[in-house]
Amino acid sequence: MDKGLSTNDHPTWSQAVESVTSLVSDDESQQLIASLRPLGREGDTFTAEAPDAATAALARKRYGKLIEGSLAQHSGGVLRHLNISVARGGQQELFPSPRPIGRPDRTTRDRAALQEKYTFENFIVGASNQFANAAAQAVATQPGETYNPLFLYGGVGLGKTHLACAIGNDVLDRNPGTRVVYLSSDSFMSELITSLRRDRMEEFKRRFRQVDFLILDDVQFLAGRERTQEEFFHTFNSLYESRKQIVLTSDKFPKEIPDLEERLRNRFESGLIADIQAPDIETRLAILEKMAENEGLALPSDVALFLAETFESNVRELEGSLTRLSAHASLNGSPINIDLAREALKSFVDSRFSHGINIESIQEAVGSYFHIGRVELISKSRTRHISNPRQIAMFLCRRHTDASFPVIGARFGGRDHSTVIHATKVIERRLKHDPTLRETIDKLEAQLTSPDS
Ligand code: ADP
Ligand code: MG
Repeated sequence: MDKGLSTNDHPTWSQAVESVTSLVSDDESQQLIASLRPLGREGDTFTAEAPDAATAALARKRYGKLIEGSLAQHSGGVLRHLNISVARGGQQELFPSPRPIGRPDRTTRDRAALQEKYTFENFIVGASNQFANAAAQAVATQPGETYNPLFLYGGVGLGKTHLACAIGNDVLDRNPGTRVVYLSSDSFMSELITSLRRDRMEEFKRRFRQVDFLILDDVQFLAGRERTQEEFFHTFNSLYESRKQIVLTSDKFPKEIPDLEERLRNRFESGLIADIQAPDIETRLAILEKMAENEGLALPSDVALFLAETFESNVRELEGSLTRLSAHASLNGSPINIDLAREALKSFVDSRFSHGINIESIQEAVGSYFHIGRVELISKSRTRHISNPRQIAMFLCRRHTDASFPVIGARFGGRDHSTVIHATKVIERRLKHDPTLRETIDKLEAQLTSPDS
């Protein structure tokens, strides 16, 4: 891990560990968790270090998912993976450190850095991901021939990484000698930086251009990184020309990735773009069932329904809810039932409730407060009685949703992000000396956050 790239996420780590520790009662488990040392983050992955291999394996097995879920929660979804490495204090490898092991062909698989649990077999197919799944299967059976590159697009936690790794795992199952490399765009960048710093660019180029199958996860992270984009462009071309398969994933369409070089955007769009939508309720139930089966949990159908109805738009959260529930059940020594589910997920459901604020609900609330329609609110009108509420609404969107300036602009009649920035600044400035405005905002916020709004 390149230290220069990791921001200081250790407070998040402490919070996550504290939450998980509060769930475990015995000293041994607490010591086990306490023995993990946070190293830092890279992209959406947080790495912690265990003193030895046995501890690392145990920690992964028992608490990996819990800590991962907790990290995701405390980082507001920014951190999504936990990597527990073994302390060794040595040189960094060019390829990311191996994941848990167990298959006969572990060398290739580990070198590929694939998560081996992410297989086609474990991937539940429904209307929301059928097309992406079919495309992924086609690419795995006929690499380099059908869709190149395959660009998997979908929202956070909907299975992009799973599907991308499933392709790699399947390719290795069929043909263990294939040189598959999976890595996140962030790792690609940090390896590039390390190679530049150590004057080892030739090696970097050679290694990436020698692979048979390249899976680059989360290419939206390439946004604005010129040097990395340039290097990836050359890697891409060289692989593409020798008919090697490339699989890319992103939570944005190529068009929506800001500061992406045009020529790279063209490459991304030149193969097949397959999108993954949020799963419908049947698929969510099937995912829960599969997970319960894999983990040997008895999951009553009313509990499954409760979880599937509560966690609608993110499979990672859905899975996390079951993990959390099963941890509660085993700590309480009771079976999983609906009361326990309500109790275990109470805080989560409550906090989601207040996060139920979205751009639409803000537009609705502001519109009705000022007696203007939503259409007018997002119209091009510049009259003060409309532009003032509009600025307030933009300000509230910025404050109460995760939406970025460009996204907010787009949802307000396709305005530029600079307009949203301006609106937010205006309101912030006025708030300092305008009691009427402050009162308006207070009322709107109270209304938006009240549970029965
Ligand atoms: P993304 O990369 O899109 O953010 P991931 O691939 O990491 O999402 O998926 C999040 C979690 O949800 C993973 O544990 C993955 O196995 C699981 N998951 C997502 N979609 C499915 C599915 N259709 N069937 C089974 N598990 C799924
Ligand atoms: Mg992912």
